[in-house]
Amino acid sequence: MPELVFFSGTMDCGKSTLALQIEHNRSARGLAGMIFTRDDRAGEGKLSSRLGLVTDAVEVEDGQDLYAYLVDHLSRGGRADYVIADEAQFLAPEQIDQLARVVDDLGLDVFAFGITTDFRSKLFPGSQRLVELADRIEVLQVEALCWCGARATHNARTVDGEMVVEGAQVVVGDVNQSAGHVGYEVLCRRHHRRRMTAATARAAALSPDVLPVPSYGTP
Ligand SMILES: [Zn+2]
Repeated sequence: MPELVFFSGTMDCGKSTLALQIEHNRSARGLAGMIFTRDDRAGEGKLSSRLGLVTDAVEVEDGQDLYAYLVDHLSRGGRADYVIADEAQFLAPEQIDQLARVVDDLGLDVFAFGITTDFRSKLFPGSQRLVELADRIEVLQVEALCWCGARATHNARTVDGEMVVEGAQVVVGDVNQSAGHVGYEVLCRRHHRRRMTAATARAAALSPDVLPVPSYGTP
């Protein structure tokens, strides 16, 4: 049975690496994939992983009908044995419905990869629709770590290393951005709630207001 599978996780948890691995495994068996992406860090029409791998992809536009795109591709004699949709959190809910229709009416597996929640820990509309429609949800357990060493479960948006909680839901940036830019950082829930990024934690540790913990009694 073909399936709509949603691989979800935080930023930096290896989603695109897994997407590329699935693509590699299937193309090595002679299968042809249709790869959709949106706002990949490598630029338009690319699916890239932070580990340096990259492949060509179809850049999804606003209002594009993904089901119609596949039907058109197939009717022109193109091949598609399965579908990969990376950065699926950026797709519109209707586009997720179209992907479900690709599974049901065209009989193709669809593997969608996306961040579940935004920098305010709210579901992205595309991810919400995937949670509602997917046959299967796989939470990726490649552990992204908070600066404190705990498992990172939340995405923070940063400006100059300071966490921000206001702004548009989608601002394209990447983890470990240089100063002056919007960046993203994965945090554990505790530090997301306290808005404590690696940079602010480092600043607090160096601040003279923070006294060393006094020690009592004999060492
Ligand atoms: Zn933490």
